[in-house]
Amino acid sequence: MMKIGIDIDGVLTDEQRYILDYGSAFFTKRNIPYKIHDDIYDSKEIFEVSEEDYDAFWKEHIFDYSENISIRPFARDIIKKLVEENHEIYIITSRSYTTYENEYRLKMQSVVKEWLKRNEIKYNDIIFSRKKDKICKELNIDAMIEDKPENVAKISKNRPVICYNEGYNKKYTGENIYRAYSWYDIYNKIKEIENKIVIFDWGGVIESQKEGEYNIFTSDIDIMKRLNVDVNKIDVIEEYTNCNNDENGICISCQSKKEECEAWFERVKKKFNLQCDLKEFAKVYDEERGKVVYYKDVIEIAKKLKKYCKIGILSNLMFLDKERLNKQVELKDFDYVWLSFELNCKKPDNKIYEMVEKECKIKPSNILFIDDSKENIDVAKSRGWNTCLASGYELDKIKDSIDKFLNCK
Ligand SMILES: [Mg+2]
Repeated sequence: MMKIGIDIDGVLTDEQRYILDYGSAFFTKRNIPYKIHDDIYDSKEIFEVSEEDYDAFWKEHIFDYSENISIRPFARDIIKKLVEENHEIYIITSRSYTTYENEYRLKMQSVVKEWLKRNEIKYNDIIFSRKKDKICKELNIDAMIEDKPENVAKISKNRPVICYNEGYNKKYTGENIYRAYSWYDIYNKIKEIENKIVIFDWGGVIESQKEGEYNIFTSDIDIMKRLNVDVNKIDVIEEYTNCNNDENGICISCQSKKEECEAWFERVKKKFNLQCDLKEFAKVYDEERGKVVYYKDVIEIAKKLKKYCKIGILSNLMFLDKERLNKQVELKDFDYVWLSFELNCKKPDNKIYEMVEKECKIKPSNILFIDDSKENIDVAKSRGWNTCLASGYELDKIKDSIDKFLNCK
């Protein structure tokens, strides 16, 4: 859910078109010479006329404009769609007369409301104010749709602004400024702004690495027991971990290509004096690893999130692990599954985080990453991701970070 602020003039209406049509008519009929500059925002400079003449034009036309201006194509449909998607709509306007004490104030306010009603615009509230950046802050607006250059510049300092493209605001660009050319285009920009992802680590977050629980380390010992290794004579966990390193001491176990996997297995085989082949090993591995405790609550949380954002897994894993992972979490339910052995790169290498950003096309501030390793979290943090350092049994911590992430900004 997002709180969306919507300006009226220039956004719901094509105000510039009206000014050009009715302004040039007004000045022509009164023999007032003018010269048009259509890249200028609502002011006397559009026509190079005097302040007095421009004010006279608006004075004569403001109520006609306010009552009769047509709404831009599809604005009503898109707002209806946004409301159906549970977004909140706030009309924020500084229409003439409505923001300060004067004899037309209430009249104009009701003209505006009537116009919105007639055009079937659904909204949660309407605010008449010239201090739109302040209003956006007070209401905690997630995205403002605006066309006035000054407002675009100010509001975008603190939140995304969808700038309705007009000649007069063309040069306003920036990280928080999304340019839209139509109401359907506004809809797509909202989707872009809304686009968020929660990424889960697997080992430690979904699958237990906790002491006292049947975890992957206990399972390492059981695997070797089943393969007739005398586990009292050899430190299984240490030696098994050592096998991850190739002859140059470089740890490759979970970023391996097939040949590297085979080399890895040769090392394991030699170290533990195994008699089996890789296929047999894989079978025992899969069975024993299948007994490891995993946190169904975390998976449930992840799947519930699908209504609100994308979900992904980013994990350092070996090819032997994928089947089991699939059994536990049903990978097809995840929008993205990034596994080190498939990417040939692993955490905390900066490269793998970069790959994630590139593939999902979601900006760092819209990513939440949950991992139980500080090393992995630190790199994510340095890239501007939101992070949560937690293990799968720290459910409240995980839930809190997700709530904060989805409601934030
Ligand atoms: Mg406007």
